[in-house]
Amino acid sequence: MPAPLSLSAAGSRIDAWVAAHRQEIIATASRLIAIPSARVPPAGNEAAAQREIAALWGALGADMDIFDPADVPPLAAHPLYWPAWDAAPRPLRGRPVVVGRWPGRAAAGGRSLLLSAHVDTTPPGMPGDWTVTEPYTPKLVADRLYGRGAYDTKGMLAVYTEAVRCVRELGLQGRGDLTLESVPDEEYGGSHGCLAARLRGYNADLAVNGEPTHMRPCISHNGGRLWKVTAVAEGGGLAFAGEARENPIVTLAEVALAVDRWRARRERDARVADPGRAVPAITLAQMCSGGQVFADLLGVPERGHLYLAVQEPPGVTAEAHAAGLRAALAGVPQTGARWELRPCSRYLPGSRMAVAHPVWPLLAAIYQDAQLPYEVGHAPFACDTYVFNLHSGTPALTLGPGGGNAHAPDEFVSAQDLSDLVRVLARLVAAWTA
Ligand SMILES: [Zn+2]
Repeated sequence: MPAPLSLSAAGSRIDAWVAAHRQEIIATASRLIAIPSARVPPAGNEAAAQREIAALWGALGADMDIFDPADVPPLAAHPLYWPAWDAAPRPLRGRPVVVGRWPGRAAAGGRSLLLSAHVDTTPPGMPGDWTVTEPYTPKLVADRLYGRGAYDTKGMLAVYTEAVRCVRELGLQGRGDLTLESVPDEEYGGSHGCLAARLRGYNADLAVNGEPTHMRPCISHNGGRLWKVTAVAEGGGLAFAGEARENPIVTLAEVALAVDRWRARRERDARVADPGRAVPAITLAQMCSGGQVFADLLGVPERGHLYLAVQEPPGVTAEAHAAGLRAALAGVPQTGARWELRPCSRYLPGSRMAVAHPVWPLLAAIYQDAQLPYEVGHAPFACDTYVFNLHSGTPALTLGPGGGNAHAPDEFVSAQDLSDLVRVLARLVAAWTA
């Protein structure tokens, strides 16, 4: 292993650089937030934001590679390929992956580092729901930088950009190669952007996948899947003659309550098994029936649907996951409106990095040097990190800032955390690639 760089010498230079560039870090994050890149299933809308990122990294002297996932031939043959979302085709054209590479100072000897994050966001929601600013008009209020994607994960793409700027201006990259990547198609269980980059050959001795973890480097993360329950009545409309009507609303309510009882059982069982462990969540995300506004229908609706997301810890197979959900719903009768359950995303497994990986003692030293509290965490959500850990030779941890309202109105990220993450990652680049 290469001799560790003197953290304290590099660290004080990095801290001085970050103190002088706090406004630039906010400005870079704001620039990215201002460009809409929402996934609206089944399509995506990442190209304009990716052009901006390519320009930023190109200006920092990177060797650039910009490619469509659809142009990576093994993708369509890979077991992770999931060409549909909720039964609709998922287009992968015009949604580029952006990779920037800075070769190390020597042809051999240094360890390589890859910093990855997704550029797609969830949709902005209804305009009136945002109270602090518009979704694509970033606004800093005290320590909170508001805007769609600020927290998940454009803040992290800004952190990567500014950490590379810092490392280059201070001449701190060592012998190992440094790679940044910005991938499309993560939200709604995509993974095609991250998978395409692995299949194109961008792998390293260590990867960081940027997701909101409140500053904790996470050794593991949950998996999960999105499901849809559709309920259909034989005949809808107003019961003029007082005839009985099966009602999808009643059926969906029974499904929702069965799911919620299962959630409570899982949480209780998990706490009994391991009192300190984070419990994988179940989210009842959307229930629709009978139109959008009251005037749409004054009678029994013909159909309705319920979306739910079910998380699982690392090690749970897709089969065990589906069997658990089906068992939970087994008691909901088919005697009212007929209902059926089907997945509308791929199953995303959780994954875990090795405890013995040399990055853990290094990160402990880096956090100590940066005078930040250090706690190895578990990320309680599904994300692309498993693509690295289970489908490539690149071990990956998950790391990102604190903030709030991910996937919701008034999403924000901590500006202090963005600066602190530049301090952490600039140190990591220097020490890991030394
Ligand atoms: Zn995310």
